Amino acid sequence: MYLKKMEIVGFKSFADRTKIEFDKGITAVVGPNGSGKSNIVESLRWVLGEQSAKSLRGGKMPDVIFAGTEKRRALNYAEVIAHFDNTDDYLMGHDEDDEVVITRRLYRNGDSEFLINGKKCRLRDIHDLFTDTGLGRDSLSIISQGRIESVFNSKPEERRAIFEEAAGVLKYKNRRIETESK
Ligand code: ATP
Ligand code: MG
Repeated sequence: MYLKKMEIVGFKSFADRTKIEFDKGITAVVGPNGSGKSNIVESLRWVLGEQSAKSLRGGKMPDVIFAGTEKRRALNYAEVIAHFDNTDDYLMGHDEDDEVVITRRLYRNGDSEFLINGKKCRLRDIHDLFTDTGLGRDSLSIISQGRIESVFNSKPEERRAIFEEAAGVLKYKNRRIETESK
């Protein structure tokens, strides 16, 4: 599985629909300060289900919607679409799909939706799809500034969760906690 393509519209500095294609292997994004490099990475974390506006450098979630500039009016919604190559059948429940497409939309009035391959789903379904794949919400495949220090400074039980995610057992543990609480 690998990230093949992203489509971003209305997310942070991306007012126009922007398509970014990735090849297998390493991609480096370069550009002047403030040109939107970090916003690309944040758009990926967002479409994967990030729920903390603060960790996306905002106060509240609608802050991710394009806020306008001197020349351009603000937009009313943000949409990010991530296309994953799944020809190796890596994503559980998608053996038949060579491509798995995740979409997240958020409107200024707070309405939001998630889709997997064009079908509406819950945030939970997105989390389930990626937990233990190495690309889950708490995985270390996306490391932002300050994260390394926070791993070193974390409490033992927090650090344990990092290892559990890396080992691929977090999904089962989360399910057990949920079942026991019913
Ligand atoms: P650096 O090299 O300094 O790390 P960068 O390329 O990573 O820069 P970003 O942090 O991705 O840049 O982009 C910052 C830009 O995004 C700023 O110009 C900021 O005004 C713009 N921006 C952030 N949120 C929004 C928003 N909601 N609407 C419009 N523009 C936004
Ligand atoms: Mg940056």
